Amino acid sequence: MKTQQFAVIGLGRFGSSLAQELMELGYEVLGIDKNEEVVEDISELVTHAVVADSTDEEVLRSLGIRNFDCCIVAIGADIQTSILTAILLKELGVKTVVAKAISVLHGRALDKLGIDRVVYPERDMGIRVAHQLVTPNLLDYIELSDDYSIVEMKVPACLHNKTLSTLNARVRFGCSIVALQKEAGVIIAPTALDSLQMGDIMVIIGMNDDIDRFEEEVI
Ligand code: ADP
Repeated sequence: MKTQQFAVIGLGRFGSSLAQELMELGYEVLGIDKNEEVVEDISELVTHAVVADSTDEEVLRSLGIRNFDCCIVAIGADIQTSILTAILLKELGVKTVVAKAISVLHGRALDKLGIDRVVYPERDMGIRVAHQLVTPNLLDYIELSDDYSIVEMKVPACLHNKTLSTLNARVRFGCSIVALQKEAGVIIAPTALDSLQMGDIMVIIGMNDDIDRFEEEVI
């Protein structure tokens, strides 16, 4: 199967980290930035890195940008450039365009252009860190919608050796434990008979209010 190809435009903190992680995951990555130094710094770490202005349509065309499976506009600080780049990528026929927004208004503008996915790294990381700070056993937090989330939580001492049926999270709190990560491996869709050991990681899905109650009353 052909490896998916990504183009990351804007190699600042977010773009360069994204580009390197995609490489680590085994994908081909073209990095683009108008700053020569930035491109030089990352050139050994991605498949190709080029100095180019992403608001220049001819340059994007000559890079064969429409052949990439996914282009990520990782330019945040300069909103005008971010929007112009996103428009050009769409017009050139790129299948999937993802763009980083630095504010709600920036995100709304990108949404209106029909960008396939708008991400808010700073806002999302702020929310995650806040949750981690107030819930010591919380490892990660992903918002699925305004009402629903998935959280990863360490099993605390008070739940050691308890089965999922004893915990009874679905009936008591309305949230479901959809996976359990144990030393021996991950159990997907654990059953009522599976037991929790201190230090295991529970992956819990549910409404935010229900997850909050679970955290307050159980953890
Ligand atoms: P971060 O906050 O993730 O560091 P920035 O918005 O500060 O993101 O960085 C954006 C990057 O995008 C910078 O490296 C900058 O040189 C690059 N950039 C800005 N405008 C263009 C452009 N027109 N074409 C290509 N790269 C650009």
